Amino acid sequence: MKVWVGGGLSELENARVSVLDHGMTVGDGIFETVKAVHGRPFALTRHLERLTRSAEGLGLPEPDLDEVRRACAAVLAANPMPLGRLRITYTGGLSPLGSDRGADGPTLIVAVGETARRPDTTSVVTVPWTRNERGALTGLKTTSYAENVVALARAHQHGASEALFANTVGQLCEGTGSNVFVVLDGELHTPTLASGCLAGITRALTVEWTGAKETDLPFEVLDSAEEIFLTSTLRDVQAVVRLDGRGIGEGPGPVTTKAMRVFEERSAADPNPKSV
Ligand code: PLP
Repeated sequence: MKVWVGGGLSELENARVSVLDHGMTVGDGIFETVKAVHGRPFALTRHLERLTRSAEGLGLPEPDLDEVRRACAAVLAANPMPLGRLRITYTGGLSPLGSDRGADGPTLIVAVGETARRPDTTSVVTVPWTRNERGALTGLKTTSYAENVVALARAHQHGASEALFANTVGQLCEGTGSNVFVVLDGELHTPTLASGCLAGITRALTVEWTGAKETDLPFEVLDSAEEIFLTSTLRDVQAVVRLDGRGIGEGPGPVTTKAMRVFEERSAADPNPKSV
């Protein structure tokens, strides 16, 4: 396995980042997970746009996107696999204790891991903790993911694969690594970005390709939704068939099935959909 670090490719066992990297000591970093099908990254342009927005939000230097693209291409070429998750990590860099960000500049790491296609259906749980819709990090894809790790562990304890958060004003927000869509009276809705959810790339494409409405939704819509599905880079569109142990359908309902089909067809036809 070869990874990109320090400006070039290294064998994983030789790849080194300082133990005092600000990404490690205080979680001062951002990341992207990009799906790669037979070495071809999906929606890379959109992921790099979000990486740039996250860097700006965190006050990190603007990433050199030519280098990031070169790193992604090199890592994918060095590690052929049918379905990969490309991970781009960009941190504050080496920072001696007691100092701010390192003078040596940011750290860029690109790695890829083989992944399996996610099942079409899944179980989710709700968690009692809230997402802050007005925090300094709201909407940024930072490496400060410990809260998501805790919530996902709760989901796994209950035999589910994802946990759903409300925001601090009781609205439906998102999962630990996914956005959420609900069907209400036959219409497809997803929470607005003002809910504090991440601007998921799969979410945006699903909205564009299905005409789903972005709506402020009370968390309780989960109880009355006719269908629920999740979107994320590694899931695409995934139907929720159990919520907190309650069955909500035998399989994907009609609106979800259509969204799955549309997503599959459109993403195959255009592997690098530009922002609208
Ligand atoms: N929300 C959170 C918190 C995430 O971490 C992710 C992806 O990892 C998503 C939503 C889905 O975003 P995307 O579709 O860009 O993968």
